[in-house]
Amino acid sequence: MTVSHNGGTPRYNPLESMRKRLDKAVEILGLDDQFANVLRVPDKVVMANIPVTMDDGTIQVFEAYRVVHSVHSGPSKGGIRYSMDVNLDEVKALAAWMTWKCAVVNVPYGGAKGGIKCNPRAMSKGELERLTRAYTLSMRNVFGPDKDIPAPDMGTSSQEMAWIVDEFSKIQGHNSYAVVTGKPLVLGGSLGRVEATGRGVMVSTRSALAKMGINPTQATCVVQGFGNVGSISAKLIAQLGVKIIAISDISGGYHNPDGIDIPKAIEYVANSESRSLEGFSGCQRISNEELLELECDVLVPAAMEDQITPENAARIKAKLIVEGANGPTTAGADDILNEKGILVVPDILANAGGVTVSYFEWVQNRLGYYWTEERVNRRADRAMKMAFDNLYQRADKEGISMRMAAYVVAVEKVSRTLKLRGSF
Ligand code: NAD
Repeated sequence: MTVSHNGGTPRYNPLESMRKRLDKAVEILGLDDQFANVLRVPDKVVMANIPVTMDDGTIQVFEAYRVVHSVHSGPSKGGIRYSMDVNLDEVKALAAWMTWKCAVVNVPYGGAKGGIKCNPRAMSKGELERLTRAYTLSMRNVFGPDKDIPAPDMGTSSQEMAWIVDEFSKIQGHNSYAVVTGKPLVLGGSLGRVEATGRGVMVSTRSALAKMGINPTQATCVVQGFGNVGSISAKLIAQLGVKIIAISDISGGYHNPDGIDIPKAIEYVANSESRSLEGFSGCQRISNEELLELECDVLVPAAMEDQITPENAARIKAKLIVEGANGPTTAGADDILNEKGILVVPDILANAGGVTVSYFEWVQNRLGYYWTEERVNRRADRAMKMAFDNLYQRADKEGISMRMAAYVVAVEKVSRTLKLRGSF
């Protein structure tokens, strides 16, 4: 793993982490290296510079990307991220992970991802709307219900999806709900979508604890990140009877060995001006680094990439890691966690509940027939449980980690599809 140093802070490259694991899967499957080259690179990379008039009258130019990794088994699918850390390698890695994720949960899509280098927390609603509409216009030939379907990711929500639907529909001349998922309910969103990713993390946690013979009511859990994925994962895992002893977000970590009232923390963030846990009382303040190394049964990294690295992996004390975020563990940390006997439910399985219900949303849009929340949850839970059992068995049979089993299953499926189509 190449580590570059920026002001003393090690930086890892998620694309390298993705490729290292892909290469291992290629080796296990005995795939031809020339063929593997098709999987290593994206189908299409679109970069745009988007000028936006800010509220103070100045014009700012934003760097924006959409990367389509694959379209072998349907339209490409993947979220749009608004963050100052957005860069091309990150978007390429996230797009490839979407390909593998869809294959793992049997969702008939390829993989894509979008990103805009911006700080959404420092922008007004009007500025965000102008940026999102301009991005949609710029990507009008990429997006489409049968071509490429965005969704929310870090820094974006159902509001951005509503602006994309509106702008794209105007360009098309007719309503096009199915162009994005994660929409507000009144605009063709699906019941259960907001909670879907956290719900899948909970199903993965429940399945893994059962395999490990750990009673949830005796277990403790630490969650990093308290946005869509982290807060809902924490809430639903707490509902299993697990004690959540620490949570964190951009403002730092909050630790209480007696357990944290998660609904109260969610309400606190919703009503706070900073939309963060800053000032949340009843907990000891710790850093995000300390939080990862706490003694606990379950650790759910649900913030961002490269949190568990060769530098801290040896100090992780959790027995189980369930990856809510994409790429929270670098490839260099995999072996250290495996040697310590920590079970890792990999991102491309653990957070796949989101894309599963996104698929259900797209199906409902196209049918014009909407399901009950109970139906959405039941089908999503079943899909997650089946995928978990499949990977667990494959890992057991081949003597490999669940992460490698996930890559092997995904790469096997994608390469079979590509070879049958034979378009090279
Ligand atoms: P979000 O923007 O809703 O929340 C991100 C959270 O991480 C916030 O609480 C933020 O304060 C926190 N955070 C940011 N920097 C941090 C830091 N340095 N240390 C600790 N916490 C920090 O984003 P989200 O949608 O919850 O996404 C989180 C992760 O889950 C990302 O990796 C994303 O790609 C992945 N993911 C999201 C979905 C989805 O449906 N939203 C689906 C699959 C995977």
